[in-house]
Amino acid sequence: MSEQPKRRIALLGSTGSMGTQSLEVIAQHPDLLQLEVIAANSSADLLIQQARQYKPNIVVVVQETAFNVVKAALADEDVKVFCGEQSLCDVCEMECVDMVLSCIVGVAGLRPAYHALECGKPLALANKETLVVAGELMTKTAREMNTCILPVDSEHSAIFQCIVGERHETIEKILITASGGPFRGWTREQLEKVTLAQALKHPNWSMGPKVTIDSSTLMNKGLEVIEAKWLFDMPIDKIEPIVHPQSIVHSMVQFTDGSIKAQLGVPTMMLPIQYALTYPFRTESNFPRLNFADYPNLTFEKPDREVFPCLDLAFRASRQGGNMPCVMNAANEVAVKLFLQEKIRYVDIPQFIANALDKATFCTPQSVDEYLAIDSETRATLATK
Ligand code: MG
Repeated sequence: MSEQPKRRIALLGSTGSMGTQSLEVIAQHPDLLQLEVIAANSSADLLIQQARQYKPNIVVVVQETAFNVVKAALADEDVKVFCGEQSLCDVCEMECVDMVLSCIVGVAGLRPAYHALECGKPLALANKETLVVAGELMTKTAREMNTCILPVDSEHSAIFQCIVGERHETIEKILITASGGPFRGWTREQLEKVTLAQALKHPNWSMGPKVTIDSSTLMNKGLEVIEAKWLFDMPIDKIEPIVHPQSIVHSMVQFTDGSIKAQLGVPTMMLPIQYALTYPFRTESNFPRLNFADYPNLTFEKPDREVFPCLDLAFRASRQGGNMPCVMNAANEVAVKLFLQEKIRYVDIPQFIANALDKATFCTPQSVDEYLAIDSETRATLATK
């Protein structure tokens, strides 16, 4: 039995919801995990506090204005402070980093995640957009560099845990669970009146605003289906979303003998974070244990694809392939932002994305630069409307 080596982690996106939970997980395993780098876009105050509390060796701030604040505040600490987007890539290269954990929100996570793989570093990925936008390029690069992408999302971690030790050709289908969000069972007429506050209230998971809105529209599940396709090398039509309001079964895999394996637990993002960071080892935790008596009813139902059209938009974009998932993702980010600013209605979100897909010209990007160009073109076009 090989001894579990201490892993040095670069945490990109440390100030968001996933980032702060990742810091807690890392701090719980000082014998196994070492925090080498924390990085954030612009949240100076929180980043300073995190640097003082968790003692990384390197801090990266993307925005220059925030950099000066952070640098000055940490002058008395034994820590290097770097600035700029390029620094996110530079830290991935460093010898002192064994694994990159990306909790960056949005398409900004694409370049550093790709760079981590290019450097042959294992990538623990909480950022959905990376695989949605550039899944083919990412998985190809991981294979070529003989490294791996480890899922951090709860559903993908569940699927991953179900297929460990199984042969790929024995996977018949993936059943990816969805809570259904706060508007499960609602009619289209009811959705017409949804307010921002209602959409920001997720029944089971505590997450950032973008992913909370995405969960309520089921776009989150759409993005996750595309992620699963790339992570587990499965055709999109063998991935079935299933609504499970209790969020206890985190996903399931059905095998060619008809057997189904599921991964269960009390909803917490800490467990998937820990599994990715310590894989292939399973380590102890004090996370809450599932007591079946507390959940006498675990229910499952088909998602309502007519009331929540975002799910099928994701299947459509994925089947089309090429730049389409990138266009869909950009259009969704713009739509959610407009909704968060209360400039469009909740029910306008899917229509906004469908229009963007209809107008896009198909192409097959080959590089991160090409994907990012399509992303910014799509946003620019949609913003001028
Ligand atoms: Mg998820």
